[in-house]
Amino acid sequence: MVGMGATAAPTGNSGSWSLGRPDVRHDRDVASVDVLFEGYLGRSDHRVASTVGLIRDGNAVIVVDPGLVPGPRSILDPLEGFGIGAGDVTDVVFSHHHPDHTLNAALFPEARFHDHWAMYQGDLWTDRDADGFQLSPDVSLLHTRGHTDEDVATIARTAEGLVVFTHAWWTAQGPAEDPYAPDTASLHQARAGILELQPALIVPGHGPAFPPTASTPR
Ligand SMILES: [Zn+2]
Ligand SMILES: [Zn+2]
Repeated sequence: MVGMGATAAPTGNSGSWSLGRPDVRHDRDVASVDVLFEGYLGRSDHRVASTVGLIRDGNAVIVVDPGLVPGPRSILDPLEGFGIGAGDVTDVVFSHHHPDHTLNAALFPEARFHDHWAMYQGDLWTDRDADGFQLSPDVSLLHTRGHTDEDVATIARTAEGLVVFTHAWWTAQGPAEDPYAPDTASLHQARAGILELQPALIVPGHGPAFPPTASTPR
């Protein structure tokens, strides 16, 4: 479920946001999307946190970027607010390999883990290309070189349109140029490719979800 801005509201005192109504369940044939923890960076106290996403699609319970947060409860409490335990999470997607987006992955013992070139579960490493990989009927991955060469965008088809989880933007403001990007042209190409999908909402690496506009850095 995606509230597209107007209905997005803080739902707790832990900084988590819900983009939809937690009472609405899987009674539709598309994915529902929520933000478990809203990330941040550039603070004077040098704290940095990943925006952690939740996608539910049929039997799939997908967490995106369980990285740096104040503590495990910052992810587990909002998850439990949706009636989901850590063991219920079926899939975890890493937008890329940096620790601020991966550090809390071990909270989910039953999950398959996804990056740009493989799936991991238990001690199984299964090679596959992320590009076009279908996690569930309405959720797929895209290999989008940009912030790193290993970037993966997660694309969810929701009742309100496509929602894209990606580190091609840190926040709605960009930055216009990513100082970590190994190749600037690839970053701009990745952003253009994502915007061509006409997403209703982008969930960036470190900020609130935002609907792309003409002023979105590309
Ligand atoms: Zn990074
Ligand atoms: Zn990051």
